[in-house]
Amino acid sequence: MKASQKIGLAAVLLLAVILGRSAAQQSQQIQPAQPPQYQQQPAPIALEKIADNIYQVTGGSGANCGVVIGEKEVMVIDAKMSEESAKQMLAEIAKISPVPVRVLAFTHSDGDHVNGITGFPVDIKILAHEETKHYMDEAFKDERQRAYLPLIKTFPSASLEYDLGGRKVQLIYFGPAHTSGDVVVYCPKEKVAFLGDLYFAGRDPLVHRHKNGNSFGLVKVLNSVLQLDAEVFLSGHAEKATRADVKALIKSIEDKQAQIKAMIAEGKSLDEIKKFYEVEDRPATPGRPQFLSLAEVIFLEQMEKQTKFEPKKK
Ligand SMILES: [Zn+2]
Repeated sequence: MKASQKIGLAAVLLLAVILGRSAAQQSQQIQPAQPPQYQQQPAPIALEKIADNIYQVTGGSGANCGVVIGEKEVMVIDAKMSEESAKQMLAEIAKISPVPVRVLAFTHSDGDHVNGITGFPVDIKILAHEETKHYMDEAFKDERQRAYLPLIKTFPSASLEYDLGGRKVQLIYFGPAHTSGDVVVYCPKEKVAFLGDLYFAGRDPLVHRHKNGNSFGLVKVLNSVLQLDAEVFLSGHAEKATRADVKALIKSIEDKQAQIKAMIAEGKSLDEIKKFYEVEDRPATPGRPQFLSLAEVIFLEQMEKQTKFEPKKK
């Protein structure tokens, strides 16, 4: 490694240490929920019909979930944040369909999407990307939660098709974005896609660097999502979205990436960039990783790029 590269690398590492968010530290901490501004007010569990036999589940604790009803099996997408909310969700599903819930698919590994796992029957089939299983394995301390880990069938890349009986669902992995294990659940016939936390509305999306998320990956994945023949996009923390909404989110991320790149080129510091975007440093909650703002994530990514591609100096 050249001396100039070493200096660049040292700067990035120092920055990571200053921010107190090294991957090693993060992985030792407990599974986080969303930061306060991303949390939803607890409301009763409700099923909203999206298409024939497809529902979005709102309310309870944690993120929105999804339900796809086949002739033989029902698939639930994400598990709520508590056992109680998961059980309430299953009770509501039982009211609308006699078909048993046999399969649970995870969009990713965040606590507000997976911690309700213990509310599911102990013979449930679970589908997730292998990175998601890895993060759950790291985060699950409770033996009752850990008992579900062997039930998770993983797939490393590409996609997996699951037949619920007369209704096929695709689980598609497009690469690292919000985390390194995000899966899109796509119902081609109904043109509905469940995006987990790949989509946010009215706020910057979250990119979890401590789970190898990446803002450039997020843009790439959202562009891939638009290649699907889908018209309705459901997600963990937003209202149902259209193709135009997804395009607008991509543009907002790209604009911020370009703006921050320009500011770095002008010699602006991270503090100045944070001030520009009015990023407030929230006090850290003990035992929880602090979520980075999109501006900080992009800044760190740009610094890493500069380190990697720094021209050789004599
Ligand atoms: Zn998430």
